Amino acid sequence: MDKKELRKQIRNRKRQFTADELNELSVPVMNRLLGMHEVINAKTILLYYSLPDEVNTHETVELLARQGKTVLLPKVIDGENMEIRIYESPEDLTEGSYGIMEPNGKLFTDYGMIDTAVIPGMSFDADNNRLGRGKGYYDRFLKNIPQAYKIGVCFDFQKEQNIPHDEYDIKMDTVI
Ligand code: ADP
Ligand code: MG
Repeated sequence: MDKKELRKQIRNRKRQFTADELNELSVPVMNRLLGMHEVINAKTILLYYSLPDEVNTHETVELLARQGKTVLLPKVIDGENMEIRIYESPEDLTEGSYGIMEPNGKLFTDYGMIDTAVIPGMSFDADNNRLGRGKGYYDRFLKNIPQAYKIGVCFDFQKEQNIPHDEYDIKMDTVI
């Protein structure tokens, strides 16, 4: 099966759940995340601010910021690239491309400081390969942060044994 077909399948699986069900399924995933050493010990952490069909990270983003960590979120700047900005509070967010809430905070370019990156996916496989939504934003960005511990996040029903991947696809260090 190719990437496109697999994305279609995963989108259909997501449709079986209501928004409330997805929020409920998000809780144990975020609890797993918050228990990880790589998150507890991170000073600077890249997260994503979830869309309604993704594992809900909204409370986690706020919680980690309140703990005093430098919390970073991506902001799409064109058809291929994203930049990284500091999240300080929910008031910093405005809706950007693809309906994603994005930070207006300070631009962050000190990529070498990023300890941990929490990355959403349409699917991940047993070998930590990632399938995204098909635009390659994370593949391009993650080249900048080879040192960061990369944690793939999706609902369990999105996981696959094997997903197709290309040489430019960046693997996760773990998937939760
Ligand atoms: P996703 O990772 O979002 O699932 P793909 O892996 O299918 O998407 O990649 C989407 C497109 O982005 C591909 O056509 C690929 O050529 C391009 N792409 C991915 N990574 C890079 C990169 N590092 N540099 C340039 N183009 C890239
Ligand atoms: Mg890819």
